[in-house]
Amino acid sequence: MWEDYVRTVEPYVPGEQPKVSNLIKLNTNENPYPPAPGVFDVLKNMDAVSLKKYPDPTCSVLVDAIADFYHVDSDRVFVGVGSDDVLSMAFLTFFNSDVPILFPNITYSFYDVWANLYRIPFKQIPLMEDFSVRKEDYFVPNGGVVLANPNAPTGANLPLKDIEDIIEHNRDQVVIIDEAYTDFGGESALPLIDKYENLLVVQTFSKSRSLAGLRIGYAMGSRKLIKYMLDVKFSFNSYTMNTPALLMGAAAVKDREYFEKTVAAVIKTREWTKGELKRLGFSFADSKTNFIFARHESVPRDYIFKRLREEKILVRAFNGDIIKDYLRISIGTDEEMRVVIDTLEKILGEFENA
Ligand code: PMP
Repeated sequence: MWEDYVRTVEPYVPGEQPKVSNLIKLNTNENPYPPAPGVFDVLKNMDAVSLKKYPDPTCSVLVDAIADFYHVDSDRVFVGVGSDDVLSMAFLTFFNSDVPILFPNITYSFYDVWANLYRIPFKQIPLMEDFSVRKEDYFVPNGGVVLANPNAPTGANLPLKDIEDIIEHNRDQVVIIDEAYTDFGGESALPLIDKYENLLVVQTFSKSRSLAGLRIGYAMGSRKLIKYMLDVKFSFNSYTMNTPALLMGAAAVKDREYFEKTVAAVIKTREWTKGELKRLGFSFADSKTNFIFARHESVPRDYIFKRLREEKILVRAFNGDIIKDYLRISIGTDEEMRVVIDTLEKILGEFENA
């Protein structure tokens, strides 16, 4: 009866990565702009012979570059294979209490998957009707707190003072703030890591640094938190990060100017898209991310999704009671978003005339 002893889990389902290239792909919040020029240089000059050796287990080129960018000490930075890996390691390291950890009922849908995988008890706290977090809901006994801020897939941002209030009420557990999207207009909790030893801030190169394919995520926090995470990492897999990722990641993070320029471009396009979506009858929480989570006032979500797909535009639709009427549309280039808006206008017009 070996199957009685299998660790059975319900896995996370990532967004589709289509095999065809003629789509406007706005379903996984990738950045429409290429990585920084330095990444191309590293790739061009890389000698495949170097791959015969194991990578640096301490990941120091990348860790030091991140530490430099954020003006923190290197022993306060942890890197992993995307923030998925970093978050998963953090769950495994810090959530070992019998008291449930807390996170919102609508948030990144990997949190409950990791909790189930690691047998961590958890409680999902309903968001308010406008998709905002009610901070008082987190002022109760718990085994840890995880908040994506800005939240996904809603895009809504909780002000830093509310995040700090939640940390203040949870000094005895680890509080993880998942800031995958913060560079697009959120308020990072990074300035608080000196004040709170139990605060872990997690970010990624997948969105604002255009490197989803390279798989780099990182966490910053107190020396103690990072040391505990490293102990678990080195008990799991010494070589999480491969050599090309370490070198290209370091090149990406060194180019502050390119980073700021591309992030500003995405934000500008997002603000334009918000105005156009409103004009077409969509409503949405104000997004501080590189996506907009929107519902149409009269045309069914699944109809719009299907018609967009037929028109070669791929967006994301989640199931689930409260969010089943919403489409999550990642922000592409200006040209792509113009096509999206024109196509939506056509689809909505067809529906109304049918
Ligand atoms: N957190 C949130 C809120 C996300 O939306 C994502 C992207 N799917 C991640 C973490 C993980 O991103 P990555 O592993 O590419 O860093």
